[in-house]
Amino acid sequence: MALSDTYEAVIGLEVHAQLLTETKAFCGCPTSFGAAPNTSTCPVCLGLPGALPVLNRKAVEFGIRLGLALESTIAPRSAFARKNYFYPDLPKGYQISQFEFPLCAGGGIDIDLPDGTRRRIGIDHAHLEEDAGKSIHDRGAETLVDVNRCGVPLLEIVTRPDLRSPREASLTLARIRQLVTYLEICDGTMEEGSLRCDANVSVRRRGEESLGTKTEVKNMNSFRNVERALEFEIQRQKRLIDDGGTILQETLLWDAERGVAVPMRSKEESHDYRYFPEPDLLPVRVDEAWIDAVRTTLPELPAARRDRFVASFGLPRYDADVLCAERGTAEYFEEALRVLAEKTESPPREVAKLVSNWVMTEVLRVAGEASLPVLHSPVSAARLAGLLALVQNGTISGTIAKEVFAAMLTGADAESIVRERGLVMISDGREILRSVQAVLSQFPEQVATYRAGGTKVFGFFVGEVMKRTGGKANPRVVTECLRKELETRG
Ligand code: ADP
Ligand code: ZN
Ligand code: MG
Repeated sequence: MALSDTYEAVIGLEVHAQLLTETKAFCGCPTSFGAAPNTSTCPVCLGLPGALPVLNRKAVEFGIRLGLALESTIAPRSAFARKNYFYPDLPKGYQISQFEFPLCAGGGIDIDLPDGTRRRIGIDHAHLEEDAGKSIHDRGAETLVDVNRCGVPLLEIVTRPDLRSPREASLTLARIRQLVTYLEICDGTMEEGSLRCDANVSVRRRGEESLGTKTEVKNMNSFRNVERALEFEIQRQKRLIDDGGTILQETLLWDAERGVAVPMRSKEESHDYRYFPEPDLLPVRVDEAWIDAVRTTLPELPAARRDRFVASFGLPRYDADVLCAERGTAEYFEEALRVLAEKTESPPREVAKLVSNWVMTEVLRVAGEASLPVLHSPVSAARLAGLLALVQNGTISGTIAKEVFAAMLTGADAESIVRERGLVMISDGREILRSVQAVLSQFPEQVATYRAGGTKVFGFFVGEVMKRTGGKANPRVVTECLRKELETRG
């Protein structure tokens, strides 16, 4: 039996989301990035003696937002502790973190597997903590330290060990990323470290109930690397066990360039950190009124929005998923659809697929190429609707619309481009008939092939007519006309 059949992987994620508050977790320093190194600091976030922390209410609110979205229980009373360790990027010598009493407990998040099934991944808990500074290793021989990030609020989201493959792990991370960005509590950029993921992984014989010894893999700053690193580590564990070895509980660092996870340190136990209650902060109390107030500010969540796109607009599930992947894309789509429905006086359902096709292809492509969020696309939703109205009312063909869209990137609107370039679709039967007849007499051999049953050449004729008319002929009229001519002539 292959190793892959004998063993199954067990994975749990710990995701750190950097919260988009204006100020740090326990002081008034700005969290904005790009400030000169070591300038956004104060006695509190540097941990100078006598400086007292004060909890940022906004960070708690953001934690509640996420907790509600994950269907977690929001603790009426949570508390902070000190996690003690030494590292150059931690001038205080301890990190303030919720430990025994996290803000959110339980809940879950749904992932859709490639085979079409949906699985619910349990959330163990989510807690608030502060970030450490940054060590900079790539400026010559010395390591530099920038402590601007010290004290920036983080929300750590810990899943239950419910994941069974690297793919499930990256899908779960993608869902968490989608959720925190929809909630606007984190910008979700993994390259810049606003969203970080550590993965705990073990293997066990299939059918086994108890969990194997786990390792923790760190430093995987993309979805692709989460999958690669877990793939690597699962294989290593399987082979080791098969060779009669034992897994050591340790922390590994993923080296993306070499494609290996290397041991960093033997895993510390929580007692190594000498956690103790943070004496300078009061417990966090969250009452029902606060939770209700936060609930009213929640946006429509991605899963609900996707289901609504399917139910109200009749979109395929696939389209709805692509459109709802990012909140900005979904908003762009809805705005374009609203304007188009209004302009063409059609029910949204009737024109939704047209808009969806354009957003999923041209709009996402152009935004991707410009590295811009779709909402800041050079062609705004309203201008796209202007273009699609021309398609919908038959002024231009879909092919021409692509050309017009490209021209719109410079800022001009669809109507004026169509007018200036003379791109109005030819639907006039007589004019199209002339082109059709010209094409048929130009290609007698292909006509013979068609008549002998080689109907595949039909597309070729359509293409030739389009060429002759500069792409402006109405494809529906061309098709009808060609059919008629081919059947009746000769
Ligand atoms: P630790 O005490 O080492 O922090 P926890 O029990 O708090 O471990 O779990 C941390 C993360 O590791 C969670 O995401 C959890 O789901 C996952 N996890 C726990 N045990 C295992 C295991 N045996 N195999 C894989 N993942 C695990
Ligand atoms: Zn500060
Ligand atoms: Mg733990």
